[in-house]
Amino acid sequence: MAKAASDPFDIVIIGGGINGAGIARDAAGRGYSVLLAEMNDLASGTSSWSTKLIHGGLRYLEHFEFRLVREALVEREVLLRIAPHAVAPMRFILPHHDGIRRAFLIRLGLFLYDALYLKRSLPGSKAIRFNRDPAGQTLKPGFQKGFEYSDCAVDDTRLVILNARDAADRGADLRVRTKVISARRDNGLWRIDLQDEHGKRETVGARMIINAAGPWADRVASTVTGLNAEGSVRMVRGSHIVVRRHFEDSRAFIFQNEDDRVIFAIPYRDDFTLIGTTDCDYEGDPAKAEITPEETNYMLEAVNEYFARPVQQTDIVWQFSGVRPLYDDGEEAAAKTTRDYVLSDDVSDQCAVINIYGGKLTTYRKLAETVLERIGYQIGAKGKPWTSTAQLPGGDFNRSEFETLVDRARKTYGFLSDRAARRLTEAYGTRLFTILGDRNAAEVGADYSGAAQLGLYACELDHLIEREWACSVDDVLWRRSKLGLFVDQDAINKIDHYLKERRSCSKSH
Ligand code: FAD
Repeated sequence: MAKAASDPFDIVIIGGGINGAGIARDAAGRGYSVLLAEMNDLASGTSSWSTKLIHGGLRYLEHFEFRLVREALVEREVLLRIAPHAVAPMRFILPHHDGIRRAFLIRLGLFLYDALYLKRSLPGSKAIRFNRDPAGQTLKPGFQKGFEYSDCAVDDTRLVILNARDAADRGADLRVRTKVISARRDNGLWRIDLQDEHGKRETVGARMIINAAGPWADRVASTVTGLNAEGSVRMVRGSHIVVRRHFEDSRAFIFQNEDDRVIFAIPYRDDFTLIGTTDCDYEGDPAKAEITPEETNYMLEAVNEYFARPVQQTDIVWQFSGVRPLYDDGEEAAAKTTRDYVLSDDVSDQCAVINIYGGKLTTYRKLAETVLERIGYQIGAKGKPWTSTAQLPGGDFNRSEFETLVDRARKTYGFLSDRAARRLTEAYGTRLFTILGDRNAAEVGADYSGAAQLGLYACELDHLIEREWACSVDDVLWRRSKLGLFVDQDAINKIDHYLKERRSCSKSH
């Protein structure tokens, strides 16, 4: 849907992370003409490197961030409703540690956590005794009591893709692997220069720019839109390690550390445990953030304070780092810097730009609504808030029906293994029936996940290429899915070959 520079878009969004994709969806659904440019793959920035939780943020209560926690708790319910395939309820076990926080303080925090949003559907918190609870077997014998509470796990990258897909379905023009290189004000309009991965340049017009460039937001503000915003973003690296499944319990652990931080150990993709995270001030290119040996040791020490069977360095199968684009509120410690979002508007010569700083995956939808309100002031309001009840693609079912949907997939496609049926339901919800269609075992062809038998058939690869902007092996195996954790080199080579054969992919979205 290319437009001539003389036919401006209402809004150009810079950045295809969760915030850019969420704003594009909301704006397109209200009838604005929208272009979103993402310089790499969708969700290739911070939005794929999170702890993968949709949570109120129990820890933020200690910093008195009641507004943020309440908003996040409300959003937790909304996201469970609109993306029941990508968001799953999870119980968390918080062992009491003598010498860190007093038990009554934790109890009080959990009481507040439950009370801040009473209309929640998830069960509330409770005290537990480890001599009567199976979690006790995972912990060192010294831990006798603790607490259990609810939050949710999320597939962060799929949440971005689902928003992007819906935005495009509602008319947004999504330009992936397209960098915004400059923008200038011209007669009440922005003239914006884009450059695609082949170096091809194009200029588009827009009435407004939304800078949703996450950790690059300062850079985009100063180098693209010519605003002096240096110092608004505080870049804080957070790293994770993934180890072979370390405990049988389906609940996650949240461990208090002596430095007052918390470390999660979360059941991940059936066979693994995700451990994280850290808070380290960071300078440099956010795309190049890497875990350091100190961070790995810090996380191992933190969890081994609690686990009866220690996690070893050799158990690590994957590790990753991301950079939080926090709003710099002047707080000394990185861990204490606010996780709330801040919007800054800049208007001159009738051209407006909104810069987004901070935020969480959990609150992206609400952030988008707030941005849309500001857009309304600047270029005239269109439509009303609508995203809190409109399900994301494939999310048109209740979370309580999830197992029934997995069962239906298994019965409809007798050739799917149980794990494949579950994986496909989590990834696509009800849309899996469109992707597999009425194909039988012979028609779906080879399983590109190889020995892992996770049901990666050619029709899914076609879907990822044609409808989800996938071009490379990493797009498929690490962002549109986490099959990278399971497949061997032979499978990777075959997927690579398939994608290269279909390399003319970018035109068909
Ligand atoms: P990004 O995802 O970084 O997107 C910005 C995009 O802009 C990038 O893809 C980049 O390529 C693109 N871009 C930059 N410059 C240009 C340009 N010139 N042209 C075109 N594109 C450009 N939140 C939660 O709710 N729950 C959690 O469990 C959680 N855990 C976290 C753990 C860690 C370690 C980290 C780092 C963050 C965590 N967060 C969590 C926070 C959450 O991940 C981020 O707030 C969120 O992903 C930020 O999204 P974004 O869209 O602002 O930025």
